[in-house]
Amino acid sequence: MTRIGVATNLRLILLGPPGAGKGTQALLLKEQLEIEHVSSGDLFRHHLSNGTELGEIARGYMNQGALVPDEVTIGMVLGRVRSMPTGQGFMLDGFPRNTNQAEALDGALEQRGQKIDRAVHISVPDDELIRRLSNRYICRKCQKPFTRTPASGEPPKSCNECADGGEIYQRDDDTPYAVANRLIVYHQETAPVLDFYRDAGLLATIPGEGTVETVNKSVLAALGLTVEV
Ligand code: AMP
Repeated sequence: MTRIGVATNLRLILLGPPGAGKGTQALLLKEQLEIEHVSSGDLFRHHLSNGTELGEIARGYMNQGALVPDEVTIGMVLGRVRSMPTGQGFMLDGFPRNTNQAEALDGALEQRGQKIDRAVHISVPDDELIRRLSNRYICRKCQKPFTRTPASGEPPKSCNECADGGEIYQRDDDTPYAVANRLIVYHQETAPVLDFYRDAGLLATIPGEGTVETVNKSVLAALGLTVEV
């Protein structure tokens, strides 16, 4: 892995529909740029697996593919952002998912004398997203995604990234019903967030089809960075 490390104070947002590859790219960028990865979905799944009150509130919404109410989500994510040292760069993945959340984020950063540097939108057509999500498995411990393909066959039972092999499972919200709902919610509620950042002059849209490496290069190029191979 090539560390770029010149962007350790970069504040970045990864936007795109479920299945666009935000999480996969975030895992790469975290290493390359040495910035924190804040995934609202991972924070919720952490609460779910720890049986917290917040997790119990979120569960029903998540299983339906609906957004968890802003009163819960905004406090959880901004609490995580506020807990970081001010000089620490971060990338948000899965947040903001509506304009109310985007405005709350701007307000919280303003209080810290900060702003978002770039919003990268990974664009993938719906038919490709449905295919990806219905064949997606993830590691319960490190969240690494695995894809079932005709060539690779079934995913492994345990993760080859984790020291003691986390369980590989299919998310409850990757069922056909929840996937369809998540795409509707994305187009209705999250697409306006693209305009929010476009109007602020911060949006870069890149194609999310192609290999993980190709998309990674496009993300880095959108940040004005290149990776040497
Ligand atoms: P993700 O892993 O980003 O696909 O998120 C999984 C689920 O968590 C979503 O379908 C929502 O139910 C919930 N969720 C994650 N992020 C948010 C958010 N910013 N606002 C509301 N709900 C969210």
